[in-house]
Amino acid sequence: MFKINEELAKDLIEKRRDLHRNPELAFEEFNTTEHLKKWLGEHGIPILPFGLETGIIAEVRGEHEGPTIAIRSDIDALPIKEETDVPFRSEIDGKMHACGHDFHAVSILGAAILLNEQKDLLHGTVRFIFQPAEEVAQGAKYLVDKGVLNDVKAVFGMHNKPDLPVGTIGVKSNGLMASVDKFEITFNGIGGHAGIPSSTIDPIIMASQYVTNVQSIIARRIDLFHNAVISITSINGGNTWNVIPDKVVLQGTVRTFQQEARETISSYMKKLAQTTAEGHGGAVDFQWDSYLPVVNNSEEYEEVVREAIKEAGYEVVNAVPNAGGEDFAYYLNYIPGFFVWMGVDGPKEWHHPEFDLNEEAIKVAAEYFATLAVKVLKNA
Ligand SMILES: [Zn+2]
Ligand SMILES: [Zn+2]
Repeated sequence: MFKINEELAKDLIEKRRDLHRNPELAFEEFNTTEHLKKWLGEHGIPILPFGLETGIIAEVRGEHEGPTIAIRSDIDALPIKEETDVPFRSEIDGKMHACGHDFHAVSILGAAILLNEQKDLLHGTVRFIFQPAEEVAQGAKYLVDKGVLNDVKAVFGMHNKPDLPVGTIGVKSNGLMASVDKFEITFNGIGGHAGIPSSTIDPIIMASQYVTNVQSIIARRIDLFHNAVISITSINGGNTWNVIPDKVVLQGTVRTFQQEARETISSYMKKLAQTTAEGHGGAVDFQWDSYLPVVNNSEEYEEVVREAIKEAGYEVVNAVPNAGGEDFAYYLNYIPGFFVWMGVDGPKEWHHPEFDLNEEAIKVAAEYFATLAVKVLKNA
């Protein structure tokens, strides 16, 4: 249905290299935004006035009446010094597109260009979200608060996947990327002489018991078919051999693919911290930071996603879930949608200083999203 011709393919690759040379960090994507604005303008694709500092929202309105769906790309880079030897390597010291958001942005631009040329195929409107600040997990929330998803029926997105070949797209309903939560737990006791522990309330005992007992929440409170980890990654308390300290601070993270498991874990972790502290006559300060929800793909769109991939001429593979976070999750908390892995045949994983990808995947991604948009709107 849609084919990126050679000329457009070359042009998109050039544009990707432009962005790659000039990476910008979260909420500082001013040049990136200007570039995208210019490129959308060159193709006569209208930009919506959401009053964003960085990031841009564009729209292609079909010739037929119908609902609005959204396709999202992120646009920010990372504070990493690039160590590839590609000719278009980052020209900004200490900053790099090491997560491939430059690739995401031009692929979505490609889809917008394709759809803009064939509006007769669209039964509704496609909104293109070029989102800032994914790497700090704030951009999606910022755009939802700005009303970017108001009246949008469903949202679609992707992340490049270096371990998948170009031309393959990974698909999976429900949890694709884990929720990410942070915690900090302070056990408070009464410090004192190590030789007279009976006159202290020892927070090291509380913390030690907690570190081992907390794993029983995974073993005994989480459904056999759910997946979760609790990792305690830092313990701080005491500074010498003969003094019992007055507090111990634990930090760590929880990852899971099911919202139900996420809620169970946070509530039992808190209960266990309280009972552990109280059991020893101490007290606890339990801080929970809900960082990112699960990227929870809607089953209702799996079929059309699979069909669109095949119709665009590419191969569906089963997606393996990943425990990194992705702020696309916020959109899926708000409206249904579907996020896929785009094969890019890269030498290194995300956030590596030698991260790179095969630019042939731009064509694949653009054609997939254009095909998907037509099919979703036709079914709506
Ligand atoms: Zn990243
Ligand atoms: Zn990323």
